[in-house]
Amino acid sequence: MAIARGTPVELGAPGPVPTDLGRFGEFGGRYVPETLVPALEELEEVFKVAWASDEFRAEFAGLLTNYAGRPTPVTECHRLSERLGVRVLLKREDLTHTGSHKINNVLGQALLTKRMGKQRVIAETGAGQHGVATATVAALFGLDCVVFMGAVDVERQALNVWRMRLLGAEVIPVESGSATLKDAINDALRDWVATVEYTHYCIGSVVGPHPYPWMVREFQRVVGDEAREQSREILGGADPDIVAACVGGGSNAIGTFAGFLDTDARLVGVEAAGLGLESGKHGASIDRGVPGVLHGSRSLYLQDEDGQIKEAHSISAGLDYPGVGPEHAALAASGRAEYHSATDDEALAGFQVLAETEGIVPALESAHAIGWLAREAGHAVPAGSTVLVTLSGRGDKDAAQVAERLGTKLP
Ligand SMILES: *Cc1c(COP(=O)(O)O)cnc(C)c1O
Repeated sequence: MAIARGTPVELGAPGPVPTDLGRFGEFGGRYVPETLVPALEELEEVFKVAWASDEFRAEFAGLLTNYAGRPTPVTECHRLSERLGVRVLLKREDLTHTGSHKINNVLGQALLTKRMGKQRVIAETGAGQHGVATATVAALFGLDCVVFMGAVDVERQALNVWRMRLLGAEVIPVESGSATLKDAINDALRDWVATVEYTHYCIGSVVGPHPYPWMVREFQRVVGDEAREQSREILGGADPDIVAACVGGGSNAIGTFAGFLDTDARLVGVEAAGLGLESGKHGASIDRGVPGVLHGSRSLYLQDEDGQIKEAHSISAGLDYPGVGPEHAALAASGRAEYHSATDDEALAGFQVLAETEGIVPALESAHAIGWLAREAGHAVPAGSTVLVTLSGRGDKDAAQVAERLGTKLP
């Protein structure tokens, strides 16, 4: 591929391979129709070989550098630190091409699609962020791209739908069920069963059947590997006391944690508390979920007493999923990572405080991590501690929604 050459980012060493069938403790696995097993086995094998190959890693690093704009900086937030009484560093995934960490994973999967000799990628998307990232990279690679999206979301996210179509993707509105993300996932899986010979299913987070949770974590660990080096440079060789990130499916958080698992840093995932954990309208799958199987993987899911999946709620579409990646469920069970939450209102407060103090408008998803930090500074986050927060994306996409919530209307 003819892409101008900069000095490619350095990829860290590959992380641990999960045990057979991708188990993280009691979570993970591969719960899929038989017709999909050969495709998942092929993907696992192709990824395993690619990830150990210098040639593949160099190609991936080149794309991350020259197309996605990596490495992203770590920014020290002087005014926010002063306001909160803790030292805040931000890992700036908002500065990547397309404006969030999702591009890292999609570039990796597109390279694998080529290696498998497949010409078509499918994806599902809620707010459209993963759909846009997939359509972007499909355009770059010349792949056919179909994106499944709940009909309700197609209505709500007109700009992203237009963007995907501009990029050459076909967007298919899904009318079944609640016509939102989980229905789109069901249709994507159905398409894949029928077209698996020439189609790769590009999953956008550390969810789904093995090898996805492991593979997507490996494609996202560049976030944590970079952040560790960069924060050590800023902190005179020390690691942050706390490393925090928002958790939807969990890919930006697990990619960040991967760089710090073997340090003494407290790892904190921040889930969406929506209208409050007691209201039942939230996306806190770790805090309030129970073990179950959905979309190919055993993990924690929001369910009613009969085991039916409940609708998640969050002000941010990216955290509006009723489950979480299996590795997070395992990290919560082992206690290596802790999981907290921030409400819609706290996320809005985080959105505003970062804009006002640092001139950075975060994605509403990332604003949950800032909102949690603002609430807990001087409490669960002791005064004077050093906190690295991953800013998973930029907030332009959320401007209209936030304006409306704050009682103003965009022209
Ligand atoms: C999709 C998205 C998320 C949530 O996904 P994870 O897999 O949990 O990272 C968070 N932030 C942004 C900006 C997103 O686009």
